[in-house]
Amino acid sequence: MKLPEFFRTSRPVVSFELFPPRTPKGLADLDERLPRLLELGPSFLTVTYGALGSTRERTLEIASRIRNHYGKDVAHHLTCVGATQSEIARIVAEIRDAGIDNVVALRGDPPQGETEFRPVPGGFRYANELVGHLRQHTDFGIAVAGYPEVHVEARDATVDLENLKRKTDAGADVVVTQLFYDNGDYRRFVERCRAAGITQPIVPGLMPILNVDQIKRITSMCGSKIPASLAAALEAVRDQPGKVHELAVQHTAAQARELLQEGVPGIHFYVLNQSTQIAEIMERIRPALEARGGVAPGG
Ligand code: FAD
Repeated sequence: MKLPEFFRTSRPVVSFELFPPRTPKGLADLDERLPRLLELGPSFLTVTYGALGSTRERTLEIASRIRNHYGKDVAHHLTCVGATQSEIARIVAEIRDAGIDNVVALRGDPPQGETEFRPVPGGFRYANELVGHLRQHTDFGIAVAGYPEVHVEARDATVDLENLKRKTDAGADVVVTQLFYDNGDYRRFVERCRAAGITQPIVPGLMPILNVDQIKRITSMCGSKIPASLAAALEAVRDQPGKVHELAVQHTAAQARELLQEGVPGIHFYVLNQSTQIAEIMERIRPALEARGGVAPGG
C-alpha cells in the first residue's frame, strides 16, 4: 500500500522507524524484536539508509524482509549521498523489484568528518531533485523530511520552508518531521507550512529518550532542543536507568496523546530498534488512538 492511501483515513497512521544493525548481535536482536514491534499494530515501518549508502544492502534486506516475510508495508529510506543518478536509478529498481511501495527521499548528511554536503558529479544536490526523479520514474509513495526547529544548515526558517515547498511541489506525498520534544514547535511549523501552501499530511516524528548522553548527542546533531524542564528532570535521575526510562516513556506518551487529541494525521516513532519503550508508550496512548477510531490499518 502506498503512503497516500494510508492518509486517506481519519484514523491515525502510526509508523515505526528502524535502522539496519551493523553487527550480527544487532541483527539477531532486531530479528527477535520485529514480531513484537509488529504486534503493536503500526500501519507501516520504515528503514533508514546509512551515510554514504553504507547500509545499502542491509536497508534493502531488512525492508524486503518486512514486506515479503511479514507482509507488512514498509518505506525504504534513500539518500543522495555518494551516488550518481544512474546508481540511484539502479537502487530504485532493486527497491521496486523487492515489492516495496514507498520511499523516504532525503539528501542525507555529509559523511563523517565533513561539514558540508558535496554531491558526487552526476548526483543530486538536494532532496527535491531526488523527489523529482522518483516522481518522474516511479510510482512510489514518497515521504520527505521537515524541520519544525529549522534544518541545521538552513540560513533561516523562511529559506528552509521554501525548500520543503520545493520537495512537496516535486511530488512528495507526506512530510515526516525531525524529532522534537515540545509540541509547540510542531504546531507553529504546521501553521507556517499551511500558510506557505503545503497541503500534504505533516506527521510528527517522536523519539523516545534512551539515555541522557545519547539524547544530548542526537539533539545537538539534528538541531532539536530538549525543553529546560525535561532536561533538568533527566539530569536529576541521569544515573538511575529505571527512572530515566519512566520519564522518557511518560514524556513521549504525553506528547503523542496531546498531538492525537489535536488531530494529527499520524505519529512516526523513531524506535531505534527497541521494543520495550515503544510497547509501553503504545499501551499508554491506546485510549487516545481508540478515540480516533484506532490505528489506520497497514497492508
Ligand atoms: P534537503 O531537503 O535537501 O535540505 C538540506 C539543506 O539544504 C537544508 O538546510 C535546506 O534548507 C537546504 N536546501 C535545500 N534545497 C535548497 C536549495 N535549492 N537551495 C538552497 N538551499 C537548499 N539521513 C540519512 O543519512 N539516512 C536516513 O535514512 C535518514 N532518514 C531521515 C528521516 C527523517 C524523517 C528525517 C527528518 C531525517 C532523516 N535523515 C536521514 C537525516 C537527513 O538526511 C538530514 O537531516 C540531512 O541533513 C538533510 O536531508 P533533507 O532530505 O532534509 O535535505
